[in-house]
Amino acid sequence: MAMRDNANNVSTMIDAIVIGAGVMGSSISLELARSRRKVLCVDAGPGVGSGSTSSSSAVIRFNYSVMDSILTAWEAGHRWKNFASFLGAEDSSGLVEYVETGCLALDVPNDNRPKVLSMWAEIGIEFSELTADEIHERFPQFDKGDFYPPRTVEDPRFADDPKTDINGYWTPEGGFVNDPMLSAQNFMDAARKLGVEVRLNSEVVEIRKDAGAVVGITLADGEQIDAPIVVNAAGPASRHINALAGVVEEMRIKTNPMRQEVHVVPAPPSVTVENTPLVADAGVGVYFRPGLGGTVLIGSTEPECDELQWVDDHRDFNPIPTPEVFEAQVLRTARRIPELGIPSAPVGLADLYDASDDWVPLYDKSSLDGFFMACGTSGNQFKNAPMVGTFITALVDAAAAGQDHDVDPVKVTGELTGREINLATFSRLRERTSGTNSVLG
Ligand SMILES: Cc1cc2nc3c(=O)[nH]c(=O)nc-3n(C[C@H](O)[C@H](O)[C@H](O)COP(=O)(O)OP(=O)(O)OC[C@H]3O[C@@H](n4cnc5c(N)ncnc54)[C@H](O)[C@@H]3O)c2cc1C
Repeated sequence: MAMRDNANNVSTMIDAIVIGAGVMGSSISLELARSRRKVLCVDAGPGVGSGSTSSSSAVIRFNYSVMDSILTAWEAGHRWKNFASFLGAEDSSGLVEYVETGCLALDVPNDNRPKVLSMWAEIGIEFSELTADEIHERFPQFDKGDFYPPRTVEDPRFADDPKTDINGYWTPEGGFVNDPMLSAQNFMDAARKLGVEVRLNSEVVEIRKDAGAVVGITLADGEQIDAPIVVNAAGPASRHINALAGVVEEMRIKTNPMRQEVHVVPAPPSVTVENTPLVADAGVGVYFRPGLGGTVLIGSTEPECDELQWVDDHRDFNPIPTPEVFEAQVLRTARRIPELGIPSAPVGLADLYDASDDWVPLYDKSSLDGFFMACGTSGNQFKNAPMVGTFITALVDAAAAGQDHDVDPVKVTGELTGREINLATFSRLRERTSGTNSVLG
């Protein structure tokens, strides 16, 4: 533990500083506080959850390419479902809601369906494999054509009739959280009750070190705050914070900000939250889900025909959705939902993923003693936030007990399945994970 004098000369003991008050930093603050640590969470922005978390589509699904990712999403999904009891709240008023729509994944050639389904069967996740006719019977609002491969709107074959029908698989679980920004605030409210202090409008400009260990941070106004543990939960700024800590070079898997657009269009009468699942439709290059208030929310699955929009500086990107991307994503979705109306001007948002090289996150320590990272969330980790606090706390506890996670990986036992989640899967030192190479993870 360290002493510091803050601007008001109040002496405070801080065990851990969490950089970032997004959904990750809020969950981490809560779990570190539950482990009886005195926690300070600092954020450059004006509000808890006001960073990229506020733009999240907040989709909850369980189809990932590796077992540890599936287990993490499955365990986290049940924490979302029982959020009040997970947070220790007396009731659910003021808390986010988990809207369970089910999830339909449509086939693309050589996808991870066989792997996913065998892992689901092993865990006991309910699913059914659906033929095109069964999909159409269950969801008549969807066209049953196979539109693969995804094309640009300018491609003369964009509107070609499909030659075959699409199959897929379905799980009744999965859905979305109705308000991602509020979810971060819910975590943080619970954390504050355990003594976590939050400082907003406080940008970290330096990670201070001594003798190979972190000793604290410096804020933009020059204030220095000491602590023996610092956690990078800075979302799309993670690369910048890792660079301040001097740990980027050692990372085999790196993170970079990537611009993304999500569009919101009015739902046709045939599409409601009650009858329409969230859909991963990589064959047309989109994911979509029904939204509250009669909308359809549409994001990209990074088809090869689209250029990825890497951003050099997380503080400098266009936050306005563009007509080109809007047209592409909405027209692609209209192939699957023929009744979808196409608004004339873009409605939606643009924000940044903190994309890792292999689209799998980094929940890890570093070679700088006391410096941890929860980053590389790659547009697919909102759902896992309730587990990420547990992961980082397990890593912090292991380091305190002298366990070197790089050599002797930390494992977390899921309370639902009783199965171990090996955090080496999320190590910065891993080889590239072979997956979908997209937000589908
Ligand atoms: C458009 C979009 C759609 C998505 N859809 C989904 C989805 O459907 N399902 C899913 O599971 N995931 C999804 N994700 C991913 C998920 O939302 C993110 O992984 C998650 O919200 C990241 O949370 P975070 O707390 O790491 O980052 P953030 O919410 O960005 O929080 C990081 C915080 O760090 C602060 N910060 C940055 N630099 C500094 C500094 N120097 N000093 C102090 N503070 C700093 C920022 O102000 C910010 O508040 C999506 C993401 C985006 C952008």
